[in-house]
Amino acid sequence: MPPSVLDVLAAELDPDVLVTNPDVMDSFRRDRAMTVEPGHPLAVVRARDTADVSATLRIANDHGTPVVTRGAGSGLSGGSAAIDDCITLSTSAMRAIDVDPASMLAVVQPGLLNAEVKSAAAEHGLWYPPDPSSFEICSIGGNLATNAGGLCCVRYGVTTDYVLGLEVVIADGTVLRLGGRTIKDVAGLDLKRLFVGSEGTLGVITEATLRLRPQPAPVSTIVGTFEDTTAAGEAVTRIMSAVRPSALELMDHAAVAAVEAVKPMGLDGVGALLLAQTDSAADAATIADECIRAGATYSAVSDDPDEGEMLMAARRMAIPCIERLGTVLIEDVGVPLPQIPTLLESVREVAARNDTAIPVIGHAGDGNFHPLVTFDPRDDDARQRANVAFGEVMSVALALGGTVTGEHGVGSLKARHLDEQLGPAVTAVSRSIKAALDPKGILNPGKWL
Ligand SMILES: Cc1cc2nc3c(=O)[nH]c(=O)nc-3n(C[C@H](O)[C@H](O)[C@H](O)COP(=O)(O)OP(=O)(O)OC[C@H]3O[C@@H](n4cnc5c(N)ncnc54)[C@H](O)[C@@H]3O)c2cc1C
Repeated sequence: MPPSVLDVLAAELDPDVLVTNPDVMDSFRRDRAMTVEPGHPLAVVRARDTADVSATLRIANDHGTPVVTRGAGSGLSGGSAAIDDCITLSTSAMRAIDVDPASMLAVVQPGLLNAEVKSAAAEHGLWYPPDPSSFEICSIGGNLATNAGGLCCVRYGVTTDYVLGLEVVIADGTVLRLGGRTIKDVAGLDLKRLFVGSEGTLGVITEATLRLRPQPAPVSTIVGTFEDTTAAGEAVTRIMSAVRPSALELMDHAAVAAVEAVKPMGLDGVGALLLAQTDSAADAATIADECIRAGATYSAVSDDPDEGEMLMAARRMAIPCIERLGTVLIEDVGVPLPQIPTLLESVREVAARNDTAIPVIGHAGDGNFHPLVTFDPRDDDARQRANVAFGEVMSVALALGGTVTGEHGVGSLKARHLDEQLGPAVTAVSRSIKAALDPKGILNPGKWL
């Protein structure tokens, strides 16, 4: 009888790298998508370097064994959730970083947290901008694999805008080096962009060369309160046609109330809240004025950095605070900026029609919103209504010329809505690229590609 995949892995990998203890493996099974029930892996590989990743993929490919790559497991779409009898390939132990201040770049391994990359850059007076709200708990590998966004992306761009080069291992174990250390590089196809946002379906990212910027100037924070999200949405479209803030975030009354219950800031009863930041005094005044013109009940500018950080921290807490209220299906829809008021109005209608709570938060300046479809997990009827509402919000976004996911990725949560957005021709081309890179379909199978 030929040796099993576990026998071969055990023969080639260091004993510390290969984990088969069910209790330890349990902690590698799920991500933060509350409704995605993960499977049970055959083994967890805690890779230390590219050689471990390459050997694992080669062996898995030879045996036709599925591989689910995992960063820090903070994903909200089920992308790193285990499937039955897979190898979960964790990159969390790959933590090297080398900052090159003269070239304004950092060469990083995937297991570092986003916050650790920011700190290492800051030691040289530099800045790595992409800032998902989860920046203290998510890995750079996961950020690259989901093309993560965040709060300052409205001005500074998303993860892919900072990628100069990548090292990627494809399904048969071949190591690809893509791009490099130069700012401009048009040699050949830009394959690195194909892997950014591919959610572990095309290869495993083992190293990235990331562009850094000078530290940003201190910012002012602008607060606007509104009677409802439609008025706040109108303020967003007005602000974005006047200036380019470095953050423009929205929370509706239910999201504000959920955060107030955990961290009171005197905002209870607010119908909708806009938080903006900018390093320009003139732009701060314009943002405050545009809030008033759109019907804000209150608008003010604060130059106190501690107050600004407290408000932004409250916004970053919104998802965990709302998760205290029930099981949450997290939307991640995006629409063109002029469609924001219509999207927000439509979400309210979907919530009312399905008798389901849908608090809304969002990176409003990007037109990227997270309606949080919330239900009591003990109530089957409520679960059913929430599922219907979840699909309806995505259909609304698509009807408005938008997307089903702006930054969290498709994972397994949004897989059934992806074809609706892409259509058959794009789906077919995507599958043929997948077949070229992963002919046996071992990488994150059964999710969306
Ligand atoms: C409270 C909270 C707030 C959040 N806010 C934001 C936000 O503002 N913006 C945002 O974009 N996201 C946000 N997220 C979602 C999440 O943090 C991001 O998607 C993050 O990029 C995932 O990183 P991770 O290391 O946890 O990846 P995981 O969850 O482990 O994996 C995510 C996906 O990437 C793949 N993957 C991971 N590492 C690799 C690798 N090295 N090579 C190939 N594929 C890999 C996995 O297979 C999976 O498909 C939030 C999450 C939480 C819990």
